[in-house]
Amino acid sequence: AGNYNYAEALQKAVYFYEAQRSGKLPSNNRVEWRGDSGLTDGADNGVDLTGGWYDAGDHVKFGLPMAYSAAMLAWSVYEYRDGYAQSGQLNAILDNLRWVDDYFIKAHTAPNELYGQVGTGGVDHQWWGPAEVMQMERKSYKITAACPGSDLAGETAAALAASSIVFASTDSAYSAQLLTHAKQLYSFADTYRGKYSDCITDAQQFYNSWSGYYDELTWGGIWLYLATNDQTYLDKALQATNGWGRDQAGQLGYKWTMSWDDVSYGSTVLLARTLSQLGRSEAATYVTQAEKNLDYWTVGTGGERVTYTPGGLAWLDSWGSLRYASNAAFLAFVYSDFVTDAAKKARYVDFATKQINYALGDNPSNRSYVVGYGTNAPEHPHHRTSHSSWADSMLDPTTHRHVLYGALVGGPNASDAYTDSVSDYVSNEVATDYNAGFTASLAKMNLLYGAGQQPLANFPVAETRSDEMFVEAAINQAGTNFTEIKALLNNRSGWPARMGDKLSFKYFVNLSEVYNAGYTAADLSVITNYNQGATVSQVLPYDAANHIYYVDVDFSGTKIYPGGQPYYKKEVQFRITAPQGAWDPTNDYSYAGLVTQTTAKTSLMPVYDAGVKVFGQEP
Ligand code: BGC
Ligand code: CA
Repeated sequence: AGNYNYAEALQKAVYFYEAQRSGKLPSNNRVEWRGDSGLTDGADNGVDLTGGWYDAGDHVKFGLPMAYSAAMLAWSVYEYRDGYAQSGQLNAILDNLRWVDDYFIKAHTAPNELYGQVGTGGVDHQWWGPAEVMQMERKSYKITAACPGSDLAGETAAALAASSIVFASTDSAYSAQLLTHAKQLYSFADTYRGKYSDCITDAQQFYNSWSGYYDELTWGGIWLYLATNDQTYLDKALQATNGWGRDQAGQLGYKWTMSWDDVSYGSTVLLARTLSQLGRSEAATYVTQAEKNLDYWTVGTGGERVTYTPGGLAWLDSWGSLRYASNAAFLAFVYSDFVTDAAKKARYVDFATKQINYALGDNPSNRSYVVGYGTNAPEHPHHRTSHSSWADSMLDPTTHRHVLYGALVGGPNASDAYTDSVSDYVSNEVATDYNAGFTASLAKMNLLYGAGQQPLANFPVAETRSDEMFVEAAINQAGTNFTEIKALLNNRSGWPARMGDKLSFKYFVNLSEVYNAGYTAADLSVITNYNQGATVSQVLPYDAANHIYYVDVDFSGTKIYPGGQPYYKKEVQFRITAPQGAWDPTNDYSYAGLVTQTTAKTSLMPVYDAGVKVFGQEP
């Protein structure tokens, strides 16, 4: 069994959401390899949709899982605020909730209008690079009264209503603002009925609304009731349960768990508790239903039980197995706090504890499934920005350049087997929705087992950086009175990745022999034979008294960025020609170390970004 630092685990799980941020990052950004990105999101429709979270290992902002994840995190603060406080993570989780709530407020552009996606799935997924330098078109998509989405609007209402409760004690004005948007969105969801993925059709391939919208109408109604105490919302929540999916015998499903698509499971737990507290007769239905579901995950219901791996993971589905187990764990924790029967309480706590410990390392492989946490943790998650390829390739580089601390990967198969492969998005992607139930459960784990534990004091540690901008060069051709240099200006930036459209470098020469032969710098000529976008100067004085001059190779206006083979480096071939008998390249500062034809990195051709030296040394 586990001996884990749950404070550290929660600290990292919360941090993951900071690594997923889109838009202009705040000054307290903790992720040294993240920078501003997606700064024109919404511009195609004349609205500001900057902010929010990238969904998973990609750069689409999918509204439904984003709202679901926010609602789950807010729910967890509602239940286990002390767990966050005890581990020193309360400010961080509130900060992350505010970040995503601010985005929902922006996306809610009119009472009956909500943007529910930025970026097109197929277009986005074609490219493998860091968010800061993405160049693809990012369309924005909305739901309206004419083409509604009760699931998306209902889920966003739930997230904002739950958040309004969470912020009530620390920022009442913000809490009120969140509640206003939640009420409008719920009214929109309730009045104009439809599935969002029938309108935002691009979402069908990625986050189709399989379960429909009645579950979100219940879920949103419950949170509005809890935020307002207004009975009308509870009535609407209960009314909507009539539309939940049922089998042919009219029975509600119990063989799944809370997820971005189907929030009836979490709604059931909250209805069981809320209706019981109110002494309402309908409570029994939801108590029974909640236990049928939790028993399906634990001891079995009617002789049927979720698949268990030999190592003890409750395994629902191959796509993100640990996420479902974590979601079920959170429901089990919340229900265990409510149920009075001691045997059931112990059963559900024990189940949830084992599932979370499995993810942290208590499994047959003795490995953590949380990036940057514990023993033998995943190092190759399917996540573009943390991999930080400059070549638009999962294979280059072979190791991730950044540690995506706290990200729960998809997880093992039904035999506990797992391969830490960057290309495997079924078992090795990470996602805002994967981390939601997991983070939520860790808040409770801190309360149960984390007394006296501390989060890491110096977190995150600074990464070891590799060279970002540099020149690779070779002697392309040589003659008695000329030298031709082939040079490739690279931009492999990653801390953070950034556009290079003002990059230049200098090639330093010593013209002593030119002057000794009675000529001057004006007798030299510099021409280019091959040029992918540089302006190449004639020789310019650097230290004229000592005859030190340089060629300025300026790529300003040419985009060099870590976004693929044609983009991360640009080539130039330039030839310096002197009068016959007045040329000796061997005394030239930048010539040192160059070989014929085979390009190699050199620090003697310093690189500048907008005129500021970023790599190499001057003479
Ligand atoms: C993307 C993943 C996505 C998967 C399935 C891949 O190309 O990288 O983020 O989950 O496609 O849509
Ligand atoms: Ca649904």
